[in-house]
Amino acid sequence: MTTFADLGLYDSLLDGLDSMGFEKPTPIQEQVMPHILAGKDIIACAQTGTGKTAAYLLPVLDKISRQEKEHTAALIISPTRELALQIDHAFQGFSYFTSASSIAVYGGGDGHTFDREKKALTEGASVVIATPGRLISHLNLGYVKFDQLDFLVLDEADKMLDMGFYDDILKIIRFLPSKRQNLLFSATMPPKIRDLARKIMHDPFEVNIAISKPAAGVTQTAYVVYDAQKPELLKHILMKRTDPSMLVFASTKQTVKDLEKELRRKGLPARAIHSDLTQEERESVLLSFRTRQTRILVATDILSRGIDIDNIGLVLNYDVPGDAEDYVHRVGRTARAESTGEAITFIGQKDQRRFGVIEELIERVIPKEPLPEGMGQSPMYNPAARSGGGNGGGGNKKRRPPFRKKRKSPANG
Ligand code: ADP
Ligand code: MG
Repeated sequence: MTTFADLGLYDSLLDGLDSMGFEKPTPIQEQVMPHILAGKDIIACAQTGTGKTAAYLLPVLDKISRQEKEHTAALIISPTRELALQIDHAFQGFSYFTSASSIAVYGGGDGHTFDREKKALTEGASVVIATPGRLISHLNLGYVKFDQLDFLVLDEADKMLDMGFYDDILKIIRFLPSKRQNLLFSATMPPKIRDLARKIMHDPFEVNIAISKPAAGVTQTAYVVYDAQKPELLKHILMKRTDPSMLVFASTKQTVKDLEKELRRKGLPARAIHSDLTQEERESVLLSFRTRQTRILVATDILSRGIDIDNIGLVLNYDVPGDAEDYVHRVGRTARAESTGEAITFIGQKDQRRFGVIEELIERVIPKEPLPEGMGQSPMYNPAARSGGGNGGGGNKKRRPPFRKKRKSPANG
């Protein structure tokens, strides 16, 4: 068994790991760290929850700990503020017994935030963790000191490209010294990433670990439903659960907002997070979820990648994500680091075909549960059908669930 000490990590980092309760490296950590420590560029692809953050932070911190001269040694680019904050948080843990410092630069907030970031960047820190747009604003003003940079880290590279940051990344790279070590981390490896890697990396070492499969500890099930059955079914499932933390995903902001209202109206303590909220609002919602003041978080996909919240017992997909990889990301929110969890997906009338694609991707057929008694019948599941409309075939949009009615008596009354 390989230990962190076997990898030759600096002593003060081993102390940090100890205090965080990390006993041994995860597979991705074990595979990439020796190469990063040896100075190689790397491309690392592993599903969410496999410990990618430490896989790059530890070697970066190792190098910083061995350097005499203080300078900004690493730039870590993250697609979202939430992830930037989370990386910074992990950094604080690992670097606790070292003298390394960090700045998180992610925008939002008011003019004061910008000034504070500017001041911090002017003074410098060992590691800068930034979202692309905000970093470019600072870079254009000329006080960011990347001239001695050792590492460029791209975290959640797939998400970054999905969000349209390709050109921004290239722009940022023009501000960096050409001799540097590039570390690219991603949950998936679409062709766009290879393209980016070819442009910016030098003979990268590549590691791929079990792409696109939810962690083994997640129990996955699904309900085939008419759209009109979803609210009732959601309520029914959430009411029965005792988990302290549950995450409900929906594809659109509007659905997320509606569900928050609907659930609260039914007495379920839910809060919503989506891109219409301000930075402060998003942080406060996340905090109240993390600290378990809020039991149910309803979210759009901004939360499905990278964000690490422990012990989410249930991830419920109120709809099937448009992109099959997003399913893996959403489901990856539960069963982090070898715990267990459950993922339930509602397959609506228009979602069947897409769910079929997901089942192909993860190479497994997800069991379809019968609807609870009193909730009517499920449509037929036929993912190969053209628009997945169920037994009536496509184009039958007005179709209603056959026996939909409010349950007044207990389930089997
Ligand atoms: P990823 O970036 O691959 O999605 P994270 O870096 O966010 O994964 O790590 C997922 C969770 O696993 C975090 O809570 C992290 O603290 C924990 N973790 C990572 N590496 C280890 C380890 N070696 N031992 C124990 N827990 C770990
Ligand atoms: Mg990550």
